[in-house]
Amino acid sequence: MIEQSHTASVLYNIEPMGVETGLLESFSSYLIRVAYEHNITVGHLINKIVIPEMNKEYLERSTIYGGNSFYEGAKTLNGFTDNTTKVIKVMEMLTSREDLANLTLCKLKGLFPIRNLLKESLAWCPNCIRNWMDNGKVIYYPLIWNLKSVNICFTHKRYLIEICPACNKKIDFLRRHMVPGYCPNCIKLLTQDPLNKEKDKLEMLWHTFVFQNTQSLLELDTSQLSLIINQDRVFKQLNLINEEIFLGNTSSFSKFTNIPKSTLRDWLKEGNLPTFNGILLICYKLNIKLLDFILQCPQKSASIFQFSNKVDDLNKEKINRIPLDVVAIENNLKEILLYDTPISMMEAAKILGRDRRVLYSHFPDYCKKISKRYSDFIKEKSSHRIQLLKEEINYAFYALINNEIYPSSGKIEKYLNRNGLLREKVLQDHWRGLITQSNFLVEGKKHFNDEFK
Ligand SMILES: [Zn+2]
Ligand SMILES: [Zn+2]
Repeated sequence: MIEQSHTASVLYNIEPMGVETGLLESFSSYLIRVAYEHNITVGHLINKIVIPEMNKEYLERSTIYGGNSFYEGAKTLNGFTDNTTKVIKVMEMLTSREDLANLTLCKLKGLFPIRNLLKESLAWCPNCIRNWMDNGKVIYYPLIWNLKSVNICFTHKRYLIEICPACNKKIDFLRRHMVPGYCPNCIKLLTQDPLNKEKDKLEMLWHTFVFQNTQSLLELDTSQLSLIINQDRVFKQLNLINEEIFLGNTSSFSKFTNIPKSTLRDWLKEGNLPTFNGILLICYKLNIKLLDFILQCPQKSASIFQFSNKVDDLNKEKINRIPLDVVAIENNLKEILLYDTPISMMEAAKILGRDRRVLYSHFPDYCKKISKRYSDFIKEKSSHRIQLLKEEINYAFYALINNEIYPSSGKIEKYLNRNGLLREKVLQDHWRGLITQSNFLVEGKKHFNDEFK
């Protein structure tokens, strides 16, 4: 039984997982792990150790922290509500640590609204959990998996799972009985992999951007960030983009980013705080890193100005050229160059919904590369095909000879069940070569049928 103490820490000082790896543990995961490491249930940790301490500090509101309300509030435990702050204070005291706020989104307070920031239930990558398990590593749930905008595991290039494949249920962030890596509903391991969702390449491009930019934001230390961050910055950056890049034309801004004009106007007028997902989308479309957007002083916002110069050239022609999504298309073309199976420029143009000639005139280098890659691929593929056919012909040729049948073109085609095969010049030449060579072999075998002359 763990005694409560006012002086020393009553819990071991357990190091959060994933510090400085970009996959920092979430606070709810930390609570589960602390309970696990102490060989007590999460219920015991919360009800017998954490809540009594909270009640001591906040006597006047003691009733709030009884019973189920703690678990009901656990959905936002990794966010930045007052409740989170209080639980963190208590846990920091109990474990003698000072860094637990980093395991939540406290650093984003005042920057983004909490609404829609966190998922409603646990999301996980079965490959990560399997990996840790196989390598005897500690199993935990990274904070980044909790964000609603984040849908992939970057390490495994796959979608996260949100429903236990064994029992078909969602998993709460915190339950009275919980062991890291196991579904609390059916007690099965979370390493099961249901049929992984088909990956859409363009969609993965977006998800990868979201993951990497969210990760770099979460890596920042809370104390560092709080010095520089205020919501004014987001509003200022948005207005700067609106003025500098879209020349104050909010309709163009809206069209370019696919964010409804009314929403955008509201953000520009500093009505509501822009959502995390909205800012990610704007950064993605403008090819700006999220950290640059947040941290750079508007006056020195190099990447934004860099981009605005690019657009200036287009502006000279016609302002309504902006909806060409210059940066987004460039990103798409780059992505197409990475496809496992190269595609033609014709197909690329179809995928992007743009005219091939327009693409060539704006992105000649990328288009040429795509085209070259495709034609190399086709050449290689066709030489591979020819090689395979030659081997088949060889096989048929010698099989016929062994059966003392003259290997005429007709007999070979019939043997391989490929009508007209030897009408292809390169294959016909190959066959002629075989005939010439094999005159040695068949010499003397005069009993070959009439074709052998
Ligand atoms: Zn993974
Ligand atoms: Zn389950």
